[in-house]
Amino acid sequence: MTGALLQVEGLSKTYVGRMSLVGRLLGRRPTAVRAVSDVSLDIERGEILGLIGESGCGKSTLGRAILRLHEPSAGRVTFDGTDVTALSPAAMTAMRRRMQIIFQDPYASLNPRRTVADIVGLPLQLHGLASGRAAQRETVAEMLEKVGLKAGQIDRYPHQFSGGQRQRIGIARALISRPDFVVCDEPVSALDVSIQAQIIQLLQDLKREFALTYLFISHDISVIGYLADRVAVMYLGEIVEQGPVEAVLSRPRHPYTQSLLSAVPKVEATARTDRVRLTGDLPSPLNPPSGCKFHTRCPLAIDICRRSAPHRETVGQGHDAACHRLHEGLSITDGGSAA
Ligand code: SF4
Repeated sequence: MTGALLQVEGLSKTYVGRMSLVGRLLGRRPTAVRAVSDVSLDIERGEILGLIGESGCGKSTLGRAILRLHEPSAGRVTFDGTDVTALSPAAMTAMRRRMQIIFQDPYASLNPRRTVADIVGLPLQLHGLASGRAAQRETVAEMLEKVGLKAGQIDRYPHQFSGGQRQRIGIARALISRPDFVVCDEPVSALDVSIQAQIIQLLQDLKREFALTYLFISHDISVIGYLADRVAVMYLGEIVEQGPVEAVLSRPRHPYTQSLLSAVPKVEATARTDRVRLTGDLPSPLNPPSGCKFHTRCPLAIDICRRSAPHRETVGQGHDAACHRLHEGLSITDGGSAA
């Protein structure tokens, strides 16, 4: 580790709905959804930061806002010393050679009318990395072999591949421009369980080979526990806890993290399950709860939680969490008694 490659400071993303003519005439205000709210985090060069949370909590929006695929509404992203939020569109396009993304859905993310040669070769053309058609095909063929496909499959179309193979094509497309940083946006969650382990192993091998840094987004805490160096836990657009993966997973301090971990099946036959089922669904970001956004589902909520939003506080080395009751040592898996 040689210092932060990526720094995110106060990043927010708000989507504002379109207003109908009638709404405008009636003086209504457009609806606004704050999908990501004031997120700050660092990712060290060469590390994997896992980003965990329920579907719809803003994880993918955060990944896309970091890459400016969705333009941030506020905040700053600094990549290798450059404020990428201040770059012109042309400069940002050039920067994307070094900042890439692997999408969740290998079916939807590949153009069905293009061959693998075109799909994987496109970043080479976009960034001026190809010196002629033959050299481009050679580079694509080499990359296909690195991701576990055959060079002879270069002229096939996406529908001629299985789901796992299509995700390998998506990985080849992301890595062919030799990026430094990759957002892996739920890269295995659309795949059969039997294929997931192969793709995770491939991503680990490629990280080592190409000296990559990952933001690894997942709703599966087991995957994050296996892969990540550090973990950030997201709830309704906010980071509620982050720290080294061993510390957060072995001694989670935020009640939401505790509930996520309590849902992971234990391997040992004698292990206590202590599963805590959260009541209710994730609240709508259209109308988020006041105070601590988790208070509508938190078994430990008290009056102040409904009125005042907690700030993140240090609870260990590199480990922080945002909860009014942090220092009471409570655990929701013990019914709110001291952990
Ligand atoms: Fe629960 Fe209150 Fe802590 Fe929020 S601040 S997680 S509602 S105890």
